[in-house]
Amino acid sequence: MGNFEESLDPEDWTLSRNLAHQMVDDAIGHLSQVRDRHVWQEMPDTVRNFFKSPAPMTSQPLDAVYADLRENLFPYSMGNIHPRFWGWYMGSSNFTGALGDFIAAVDGSNLGGGNTAAAMIDNQVVDWFKELMGFPEDASGTLTSGGSMANMVALNVARNALAGVDVRAEGILGMPQPLRFYASDQVHSCHQKALETMGHGAKSLTAVASDDHNRMRIPALENAIAADRANGIKPACVIATAGTTNTGAMDDLTAVGEICRREGMWFHVDGCIGAFLRLASANKHLVDGIELADSIALDPHKWLHTPFEAGCVLVRDAKRQFDTFEMHGDYLQIQERGLIAGKFLADYSFELSRGFKALKIWMSLKENGVEKFGRLIDQNIEQARYLQQLVSADQRLELVAPVDLNIVCFRYTNGIVDEDRLREINTEIMLRVQESGIAVPSDTTLDGKHCLRVAINNHRTQRQDLELFLDTVLQIGADLE
Ligand SMILES: *Cc1c(COP(=O)(O)O)cnc(C)c1O
Repeated sequence: MGNFEESLDPEDWTLSRNLAHQMVDDAIGHLSQVRDRHVWQEMPDTVRNFFKSPAPMTSQPLDAVYADLRENLFPYSMGNIHPRFWGWYMGSSNFTGALGDFIAAVDGSNLGGGNTAAAMIDNQVVDWFKELMGFPEDASGTLTSGGSMANMVALNVARNALAGVDVRAEGILGMPQPLRFYASDQVHSCHQKALETMGHGAKSLTAVASDDHNRMRIPALENAIAADRANGIKPACVIATAGTTNTGAMDDLTAVGEICRREGMWFHVDGCIGAFLRLASANKHLVDGIELADSIALDPHKWLHTPFEAGCVLVRDAKRQFDTFEMHGDYLQIQERGLIAGKFLADYSFELSRGFKALKIWMSLKENGVEKFGRLIDQNIEQARYLQQLVSADQRLELVAPVDLNIVCFRYTNGIVDEDRLREINTEIMLRVQESGIAVPSDTTLDGKHCLRVAINNHRTQRQDLELFLDTVLQIGADLE
């Protein structure tokens, strides 16, 4: 036996190098031919069964592992990298971001904190976002797994700021008054989840009625705040949505900001969809007022197309974010020098160990430039208007919501008025379009009307893709009747 210790490094680096080059070649092939493939397809049983094998107790060559993946992974991905994927709300990733993920893993740093170049890059990306949102230089922020966590971090900071007690020590039962949060009835469900998790309960979130463009009604917001105040409840925070998930509606940020200032409330903007409109010269005005927010949630994995995951929260008053999360065990004391010196990133959110997700954002922002991302955002909005025109021009189709951003909600009607029948037909159209592999729309229900929903957050989409999709919808609709 003698002097023998194992490690995870390859026994033969040359073999590994060749295989890694092969993986990069395959990845480029996969991406460069994405348009020619189906968007999504159902997995056969052989594939499902392949993923049910027991834990591998002994070794096998990496090329065998990779061969299995080539066969069983790539053909059955979600398809959000495809030009005709417009389901729910996602970005479509990008190759530079994928390389960034790889290099980040090679660097291997833990971004909980530390005196490293990786931490400099993490800080720089947050600084860029502050700059792009018109936030002051001394604001704080942190990269998160996504928008849900970004909103959750912001709501915690808002809660601690408005609690009226040292809530970290006393807990929410120690608060002199219950707090209330307000958002439009179109708000993303992550806010309710956050408030439930924080112990305030779903009832702490008031759903303010929205108008015919699905924007929060400002007088209704003011009435709700006044009524709660009169009843001994403390109005704490308004969550304005810049781009709702259902329809892309934009709340009036300036008006909400003004109310929050007047009422001494926290002004949070859920900008997971719309914050990056600040980069888009033709549509920037839609987020006027976002720079006044106390906190903003952004989602780089949506309109910046960062490979999952990457969210970000910005907080105007850095001390409030720090005071909410700062915590150091005996084993983690900051020093003036050495590896642990500097700002400790984990002092700004729940997470301690964090991945180097900044790099994939940093690389593709540098490569493409902010202006190009702005143009791509404008392009998606133009494409949504084009689809809206096609829908409006066809008597067999009904537009179900105004197109104010990049989301088109419509349904196949062809003279049918029965709501149950319409739901049945349009659900079947959606499923058949998905199963055909031609496109992926999703669906939603607006004011009781079930409809198809096309969220164009995709840098690969072209107008011809939207034409092909509509032709497919009409064909399936006709087949079903
Ligand atoms: C997507 C979205 C979220 C949640 O973001 P995740 O990154 O999916 O966690 C929150 N708010 C809005 C408005 C969104 O569109």
